[in-house]
Amino acid sequence: MSKSIQNCLPRTHTISVEKIAVANLPTQIGEFKIAGYRSLNSNEEFVVLFKGKMEANIPTLVRIHSQCLTGDVFGSIKCDCGLQLKKAMELIEIQGRGAIVYQQQEGRGIGIINKIRAYALQDDGADTVEANERLGFAIDARNYQQCAEILFDLGLCKVRVMSNNPDKMEALEKAGLQIIDRVPIEVEAQEPAAHYLRTKREKLGHLLDFN
Ligand SMILES: [Zn+2]
Repeated sequence: MSKSIQNCLPRTHTISVEKIAVANLPTQIGEFKIAGYRSLNSNEEFVVLFKGKMEANIPTLVRIHSQCLTGDVFGSIKCDCGLQLKKAMELIEIQGRGAIVYQQQEGRGIGIINKIRAYALQDDGADTVEANERLGFAIDARNYQQCAEILFDLGLCKVRVMSNNPDKMEALEKAGLQIIDRVPIEVEAQEPAAHYLRTKREKLGHLLDFN
């Protein structure tokens, strides 16, 4: 670990993730690097997509993106995840520097099969929060601590967070990263995603400006 990272990592914090491999990843949006991380205290694996030199003193665009198979891969319009991921990659490409931690906690941590069960309840009229509650799951079962540690491990200290989710911001701050600003990441949402976003704003406190 370089000195500058030690300087901004709080003394009480340790890193509980390990970088396993890094490779180049050319994409339709631009040239990125991809790194694979493993948790040292669970089976969780993480992927981070990044571009440019990671410098502790340069405020750098970052995003914690939670895996959404339906949105990221299949282009579902029930949510805005796929569009947000693309937008984040585009912003990083324009800046020439930034990092996206891809956290494999599908469906706010409940897993893909349970997410499909929740979607089935939504087909019958429940909203995203009610559906999770009816299945007996926490509304949001995600934990972002190790995502923040990965950003540290990459060499970052000062971050510009691309997120509308106050919980993610809080996790980054708790981990000791300095949040320089929040970069709103609002995408054009059509129904039914617009309904989903209103629910996220009203029930989960997401910072969204649209009507
Ligand atoms: Zn989604």
